[in-house]
This record gives sequence, structure tokens and C-alpha cells, in this order.
Amino acid sequence: MNQFPVIGNELQVGGRSVTELVRQAGKTPLYIYDRALMRSRVEQLRAALPERIHLHYAMKANPMPAVVQHMSTLTDGLDVASLGELQVALDTGTPARDISFAGPGKMDAELEAAVAAGVIINMESIGEAHRIAGIARELGKAARVAIRVNPDFELKGSGMKMGGGAKPFGIDAEQVPQVLAELVTLEQMDFQGFHIFWGSQNLNPESVIEAQQKTFALARTLAEHAPGPLSWLNIGGGLGIPYFPGDKALELDAIGANLAELLEQYPEFQQTEIVLELGRYLVGEAGVYVCEIIDKKTSRGETFLIANGGMHHHLSVSGNFGQVIRKNYPVCIGNRVEADEMETVSVVGPLCTPLDILASKMSLPSAGPGDLLVVFQSGAYGYTASPHLFLGHPPPHQILV
Ligand SMILES: *Cc1c(COP(=O)(O)O)cnc(C)c1O
Repeated sequence: MNQFPVIGNELQVGGRSVTELVRQAGKTPLYIYDRALMRSRVEQLRAALPERIHLHYAMKANPMPAVVQHMSTLTDGLDVASLGELQVALDTGTPARDISFAGPGKMDAELEAAVAAGVIINMESIGEAHRIAGIARELGKAARVAIRVNPDFELKGSGMKMGGGAKPFGIDAEQVPQVLAELVTLEQMDFQGFHIFWGSQNLNPESVIEAQQKTFALARTLAEHAPGPLSWLNIGGGLGIPYFPGDKALELDAIGANLAELLEQYPEFQQTEIVLELGRYLVGEAGVYVCEIIDKKTSRGETFLIANGGMHHHLSVSGNFGQVIRKNYPVCIGNRVEADEMETVSVVGPLCTPLDILASKMSLPSAGPGDLLVVFQSGAYGYTASPHLFLGHPPPHQILV
């Protein structure tokens, strides 16, 4: 992938060759994240979007503390989804008012920590609202709350749908007026606004634009039932990154222009903080997974490279993290990016299961034991979205360069 330069036929990450970074880390497999790429991604996004849109980093995409620390300096806030993430977020020094907490099953200990810290809690049900009110009363501290809305529209086209229809996330849009009426009867509940999250991993600007238009329209309707003007409106995220042949990088210009128009069309939100929350779009392309080839063999005419890393470290490259049909991620041989001699090979991991596939029947420079397989687009939903314990190998290493 062209965001990583090649010098002397070696892939460079953060200005250093992968071979050198592997030596520095002391072992393979490892994830390498490039801080400069994260910075330039945020800068590109800010250039395309109206200044008024605040960017939050949804840290479940990559919660490595050093990455979250770095992202906290680039973005306007952090979104967390558990007590563990909340603690990492607070450790960065991000003010509590710029942290929000979503998730359908927040436990009492998590709600208590969130109220004590003073972060915005995106409430996912009326039951959760009552539990928060009870905790706030007990702590003698007002809870900053927003309603996570399960929208009455669905994302068009591809991508991961996380709103519309029956969903475990948020409160159905049509129930929101009633919940707001109930909320004003509860003490110590400081209502901030709405969180309207419709989906993720979208590569079609028209779908994103349409979803954002519907989000603003829904926010207007619901705001009529709110106790006062909204101080906060989280319009979700949803921007995707290309993974597979034929995927095209998302064009931002039309999305930014549409958001600028929406800000004008909805003067009632002039004083409202408007937040776009993104995970994978900010960090996904800034990371690679590197493992080492340890064996090479042929079986009935097919060549297999066997690597020391696989699906237990990187579930999604194996096609088992939400994909319907497995497609190859972009990969390369990091220490020999180009070669005269190419070979069609399948690269598999060390696990004793046919699911452990890194690359299926791909044409790669002829490689063997000691060479480094690099998987691109691995900065999000890699390390922490994988079943490390499966088969008892050690976890991979992670570095931020
Ligand atoms: C997972 C999630 C995100 C991040 O999604 P990406 O596809 O990584 O951008 C944002 N907001 C909420 C509520 C989420 O659950």
C-alpha cells in the first residue's frame, strides 16, 4: 500500500525498515503503528470537514495506551466502551467533558466510575437511565447523560449496520420523547443531547451523506422534546477504509460540503457541540502486522508458506471477524517488496485449524523461512479483536513508531 514507502526493496514504517524494527522489537510477530500516518490522516480529515465538527477517537479500534495517548493530542475527544477503556482515556489527560461512554451493557461499577469522572454517558435504555440516576443520587453528583438513539433509518448499501430496525444499541427513536419526559422527573441527570450512531465501515460517500442528513433531521425532531437546547450532538461515524481489491478510498470532499450545508440548515444547533466519532478511519491504515515465515512446503501442486503468526493475533485477516466471504487483505513480503521471481502461494499461520489463513493463493515475491510477511490495513480491530489464547501461543508484540 502506497502510504508506506519502499527503500532498497524494504518496506518502511515510520521512516524505518521493517527488518530493523523487527530487530528493535526483539521478536515477531508484531504490530507496528505509524504515528505520522495517524497525524496526517487527522489533518486530511480536518481539512475536508467544517471547522465546527469535533473529531472523537473511538478507541475500541485500537486501545493500545500509547496510540490512545497520541490520538488524544490529535483529536477533540475520546469515545470509550468499557471501564478499562475509560481508565486508559483518563490517563491521557483528556478532560472528562471530552470523553463519552457508549455500550449496551454498562455495569454498575462502570456507571459509577463514569459519573464520578464526569464523562458523558450515552444511555442505551430507560433501565440504564434509572440505574444512572440512582448512582448519581448516591454519589451526590449530577450525571452528564445523552440518549443514544437507535435511528428510524438504516444505512444504505454496504457497511456494518448498527442502527435502524430492532437493535440492542440505543433507544428507539420513537421511544425517545417518552424517555425525555421521564428523564426530567429524575434528579441529578444533566441532559446533554443525543448520540445517533447508524453504522460503520462505509465506502460510499452518497450513503454517508444521506445518513448524516437523516441524522440531523432526526436530531431536530427529537430536540423538540428535549428540556432545552442541545449542548451536544454526536452524529456517529461510519467512514470506512479500503481493504479488498476493488474497494476505493472514501472521497471526503462531498461529505465535508454536505456537513457545512447541514450546519447552515440547522441554526438551532449553532451552540451545540457536534461530534463525529471515528475509529478505524483514523488508525486502520496506519498499522501493519508482521510475522515471519518459518516453513515452506508443497501439497499436491500448491505451495504453502507457514508463518509464526495468524488468526489468533489477527482474526480479521483470516476472514473470521464479521466477513461473509473471505477475501485477501493486501500483503507484501516486507524485506523483499519486489522481485523478478513471483510465486503463487497460500500463507497460513501455525494453528491446527483450516481457518488460520493469512493469504490465499496470492502472487508474491518468492519467499521462504526468515522472510517477513506484512499485512496492511491492520491498525484497527487487530490486536484486541483477536483470540490470543486460542492454541496457547504467546501474544504478538505492539510498537508505535
Ligand atoms: C465501534 C464504534 C465506533 C467506531 O467504529 P469504526 O468503524 O471503528 O469507526 C464508533 N462509535 C460507536 C458507538 C461504536 O460502537
